[in-house]
Amino acid sequence: MEIKKIGVVGAGTMGNGIAQVAAQIGCEVVMRDIEQRFVDGGMKNIARFLSRSVEKGKLDTSEKDAIMGRIKGATDMSELKDVDFVVEAVIEDLDLKKSVFKELDEVCRPEVILSSNTSSMSLTEIAAVTGRPDKVCGMHFFNPVPLMRLVEIIRGYSTSDQTIAITADLAKRMGKITVEVKKDSPGFIVNRIMIPHMLEAIKIVEEGIASIEDVDIAVKNGLNYPMGPFELMDLTGIDIAYFVSEYFYKELNKESKWVSPNLLKTMIRAGKLGRKTGGGWYDYSK
Ligand code: NAD
Repeated sequence: MEIKKIGVVGAGTMGNGIAQVAAQIGCEVVMRDIEQRFVDGGMKNIARFLSRSVEKGKLDTSEKDAIMGRIKGATDMSELKDVDFVVEAVIEDLDLKKSVFKELDEVCRPEVILSSNTSSMSLTEIAAVTGRPDKVCGMHFFNPVPLMRLVEIIRGYSTSDQTIAITADLAKRMGKITVEVKKDSPGFIVNRIMIPHMLEAIKIVEEGIASIEDVDIAVKNGLNYPMGPFELMDLTGIDIAYFVSEYFYKELNKESKWVSPNLLKTMIRAGKLGRKTGGGWYDYSK
């Protein structure tokens, strides 16, 4: 089946980026969120990104209009009834993802692949709530989606070779580089490496060894990373670092290295979740 129409569930940071790259390769897109204001927010973000591309001379206004014209917002899941492929990008909560997949399984045609952009969670467990576990896999994009090249393609216990091949092919059509994660293991490749690095950075600040700013300066200039761990958490969402570390603790033998530092919990309790809330490790309100 040729993939011409893609359903994206969730219009947040990742969902709107995924909707954009899908529309850029000529697919029709239905981007669904639970409330119209979230759908509108997603549409606004896409329009902002594309306008900047027009200003930089990378895109014509007519191309921008054509891309926007291919994306339809929706609040009703039934609008995904005729899509050829789905990417789920709701918040990182396993119960929520399972309920979304149950609904998708009822709404979408039986041959449609249902993929998840989960940062860490078990595709096997998500797939088990559907009647098509062979057609469920991970399609893990990185933030910001239109700019980051990597997509991890993750195999659940029952995922078929065909599902992996079709999903990798779609990611490549979107201009992405793919890697296959052969076993369903928490955090896959990148987050299994990235989360310990974030947790250690927080512990260094918590123990009074160095400031947030100096940890970021050290990592950028000593390791040649483009962003420091605190800047990166602010971009990706501090809540995601928290949810993923909690999930790792539960799933990876309750090793103490995955325990969330108190400072991380305090940021969550204070609602300081990063750029999207105007404030995280740094202040973005000005
Ligand atoms: P976000 O909070 O920006 O957006 C999530 C959206 O999902 C919200 O708009 C919310 O209203 C919507 N939503 C909640 N329940 C829904 C439902 N039942 N149906 C439709 N929409 C629903 O989150 P995000 O940063 O875009 O993360 C989404 C997923 O992508 C998570 O699984 C996350 O772990 C993963 N991810 C995030 C990043 C990142 O850097 N932010 C990177 C890679 C993967």
